[in-house]
Amino acid sequence: MLSLPQMLGNVSQSHVQSPDDWAQSVTGVLRDAAIYHQARNGFYRAQCDALEVDPAAINDVNDLQRLPLLTVGMFKRPDAQVLLTCSLADVETETRSSGTRGVQSVARRNSETMTRALVGLIGTYREFFSLSGGAGLFLNPADAEASEMGLLKDFNILNSVFDHHAYLVADQAFDARAALEHLRRWKGHMTRHIVGPPFLIGRLLRFLEQEKSSARLDPYSMIITLGGWKRHTAEALPAESFWERCHDLLAVRPGNVRDMYGMIESNMLAVECHLHRKHVPPWCYISIRDPGQVGKELAPGRTGTIAVLDALNTSYPGFLLTDDLGDIETGTCGCGRTGQVINVRSRGQSSGLGNCPVSIERYLGSGATANDEAPALVKA
Ligand SMILES: [Zn+2]
Repeated sequence: MLSLPQMLGNVSQSHVQSPDDWAQSVTGVLRDAAIYHQARNGFYRAQCDALEVDPAAINDVNDLQRLPLLTVGMFKRPDAQVLLTCSLADVETETRSSGTRGVQSVARRNSETMTRALVGLIGTYREFFSLSGGAGLFLNPADAEASEMGLLKDFNILNSVFDHHAYLVADQAFDARAALEHLRRWKGHMTRHIVGPPFLIGRLLRFLEQEKSSARLDPYSMIITLGGWKRHTAEALPAESFWERCHDLLAVRPGNVRDMYGMIESNMLAVECHLHRKHVPPWCYISIRDPGQVGKELAPGRTGTIAVLDALNTSYPGFLLTDDLGDIETGTCGCGRTGQVINVRSRGQSSGLGNCPVSIERYLGSGATANDEAPALVKA
């Protein structure tokens, strides 16, 4: 069984635990996280009390489904600071996204959470991409579509594995010509990689096609995507066609086109292996919920609302009910890694109607706990 420091210190090893060890390790780190938040966060404690859950009694991976969840929609509320376990004074970063409906979601992280998340991401990138050097071309969308890219930017981490990088910020018109110029300038000097949401990479591919041009990248070049097609569903390509076009127009091997799944409210980033299966980090657990009854966990293979439990977060409980739909698989992947694999079926499509047993209104209205148990409120 691995502790959180052991997982962060050796990401590779923690991806190849035996299934029993994986279950024990992830249960242990999430139990410790739940105990931490229950002891320090009045709002979370109220949820545990209402559901009669004692985090210390979590013994088995099947017990994890009992932990109370925060819905991602709560992060859009003006009183979202009630979700904090740390004080507002300890908040180091605030990541905002405007989302598709224009309401800002704010994820606040303290320095401990940032450090853990940064270490975890470096380990994850090195594990899955084996990158060391080269040049990264980042295609960044305009703000409204950049929620997950905001996460990347915040964590500014892929940069550190490249020798060189360039950011292209795309407004309404994406400047594919400028992107190509960067790629051509780096040719022969460095292995070239492209990072961005699939819809912007799709536009680069279309531009190449229209210009009857191609830019052959290098044998070990990677295309790393995050964030889906957003409003550009009309341009969306099935994954297989996307890989094929990346191969035809950019000469990037299909196994080197990798998608990732994450959201700004969570530190969890599931990254594809060369077999295009998104591996959940060993310090996270994904629970698939019945959309009509979110307290109920569905069996592996069944599609439902994705809940993400993350052990890294000390700024607020990292136990979130998303509004995405998907399913999970367990067992050993063809790449040799164990643990969970997540298949994301759609983003932002779940009703998101799941509520905490004790609402923010009721919690704040009770007046009993706001002063001594939620220091963030006092400092606000
Ligand atoms: Zn795999």
